[in-house]
Amino acid sequence: MKLSLIVPIYNEEKNIARLYHTITKTMELNQYDYELIMVNDGSRDHSLPLIENLSFKDTRVKYISFSRNFGKEAAMLAGLEAAAGDAAVILDADLQHPPELIPQLVNAYHAGFNQVVARRNRRGEPLFRRLPTTFFYALINNAVDVKLTDGEGDFRLLSRPVIDAILSLDEYNRFSKGIYDWVGFNKKTIEFDNVARENGSSAFSFFKLIDYAIDGILSYNNKPLRVCFYFGAFTLSVCLAYILVTLIQIIQSGIDEPGYFTIISAILFLGGVQLFSLGIIGEYIGKIYYETKRRPHYLIQHANIEEKDAES
Ligand code: UDP
Ligand code: MG
Repeated sequence: MKLSLIVPIYNEEKNIARLYHTITKTMELNQYDYELIMVNDGSRDHSLPLIENLSFKDTRVKYISFSRNFGKEAAMLAGLEAAAGDAAVILDADLQHPPELIPQLVNAYHAGFNQVVARRNRRGEPLFRRLPTTFFYALINNAVDVKLTDGEGDFRLLSRPVIDAILSLDEYNRFSKGIYDWVGFNKKTIEFDNVARENGSSAFSFFKLIDYAIDGILSYNNKPLRVCFYFGAFTLSVCLAYILVTLIQIIQSGIDEPGYFTIISAILFLGGVQLFSLGIIGEYIGKIYYETKRRPHYLIQHANIEEKDAES
């Protein structure tokens, strides 16, 4: 069995050497046949020369280098497209996904599981990071049909059938967490303790996480539009009932003059509902706009690995 390890890399010069050593040690200890695919996602530091160096010294190291920063989703996609293994493991470069866990993932694969997820518990994570994520999962699990679990990220082993299934989805707006759940297949979860990032800082700021949450909610289905529809229908019937009641009152006892409060609240409320709905519709149109442009997910500047699918 051949294993493809995929590592997206964006400004990780301080982590690459240690990552390489930990991976090599673990893999050699277990005598795995493997390739290490490093995807340089437009790093602005010295990550690329370090990767190139490793690939000169070690033929198991392959790399793909993008022409600019295309984001982690694109980097993971490029890695999966290039992977030649019977299974792939995606892991972060900052050692927050301990390579020592890979044998456990592989064992579960041998036991017949197609997706083996390493789930981290958030013990020891700062509150300002934990709060938005908790909110994110609460929101997303209520807003869409796909179920996401906190702590289950991209650190996972995917068997060849799962890789092929994921690659068959060629949408432009990729949201991996949802895609893993959507493709299905039998899945096993392994837990590990959260590890703090040692060098450098997280590329995902608070606002990036919010953007990510919105993308996540909108990338599955049209449930938010459905919510707008029901909400609109509800307000419309309430307004109609109100109009009817007032009309009857007017017929019975003449015109009821002081109506300032009701008028202003109706205007403001309806205006708000309309703007909100319009915003959601706009988001979907934005997504359609990007999908119809059919642009590639990434552009490769250079690589020492053959592209299996030049088109993506
Ligand atoms: N990453 C990437 N492109 C980006 C941002 C991040 O390839 O635009 C990589 C990064 O090098 C790391 C992984 O994605 O290997 C996770 O990034 P990070 O540690 O910043 O995220 P966090 O652990 O905070 O979720
Ligand atoms: Mg990290």
